[in-house]
Amino acid sequence: PYFERWTERFPTVEALASAESDEVLRFWAGLGYYSRARNLHRGAQKIVEQGHFPQSRAEWLEIPGVGNYTAGAILSIASNQPEAILDGNVERVISRVRRVSRQKGDSEFKSRLWRLSKIFVVSANQNNIAPSLLNQSLMELGATLCTPKKPKCSVCPLSGLCRAHQYQEQELYPPKKKPKSWVHLEENSLALVNEQGSILLSLHARKRWRAGLWDFPSRPPQEWINGSTRLGQIETQYVVTRHKVKRLTEVRRVSGPPSESTWKVAATEGDEQFRWIAPGSGDLPLGAPAKKVLQKVIEMVAVCD
Ligand code: SF4
Repeated sequence: PYFERWTERFPTVEALASAESDEVLRFWAGLGYYSRARNLHRGAQKIVEQGHFPQSRAEWLEIPGVGNYTAGAILSIASNQPEAILDGNVERVISRVRRVSRQKGDSEFKSRLWRLSKIFVVSANQNNIAPSLLNQSLMELGATLCTPKKPKCSVCPLSGLCRAHQYQEQELYPPKKKPKSWVHLEENSLALVNEQGSILLSLHARKRWRAGLWDFPSRPPQEWINGSTRLGQIETQYVVTRHKVKRLTEVRRVSGPPSESTWKVAATEGDEQFRWIAPGSGDLPLGAPAKKVLQKVIEMVAVCD
């Protein structure tokens, strides 16, 4: 339903390109990473500016958010060109069929898989198997038969040429990566709640993560904090890329909403905008870490009231 709502609101690349980013992010709610919505938006704007869809891998790679996998998927599936793809499912199938190891490092492993994927799609094409069909079949095979655990080799159409199956080493491929080394961070934010129960959120123009999403401010205007009462502190955690972040949010009650003059002066400070929202109003795009904090703030305020 979320995806249908999205395609109904943005049925064409022009409709998406001309929308405001706030609206784009709002309609993306429920569909996963917000960076995808931002990239789709910027990508649509670039395509509309150019006046046509890209025709080659190099042109697609110029579109924001499009990497090698997306470019190959669009070119092979939508344009039927013999272009390689490599997602997690295809990686598993190819690495098993050819027993591709990681011995020479991660980047050599990946480039070998890309080369093999290209060989598969080109030779299939020469044998009148459409690139669109071949690539979708590889993805589907990886998702349904060549699963990470207990692959269903007895009904797999590739079993006759699959080396991992021949040596009964299916679960050794793809070989495991070295575990990630995590970077631990701590961040502080402030939840100001006014007498009407509204909560202060902010939007930072130059955020490292979650640009374009509303969040709890780290430093709201000092005049709004003066005279406020501390209700407590909330600890939450979230993970982003290689970072494990511990967030401490101090919850404070402010007396009355700021006067209109204060609001107008302080509503935008440098790169940051502020807005009071009523809980449950749901009209601002929030990232998952902020949603988690918001829920806890609402619970804490309910107990204190
Ligand atoms: Fe995967 Fe087994 Fe098919 Fe090989 S034979 S591709 S391991 S499902």
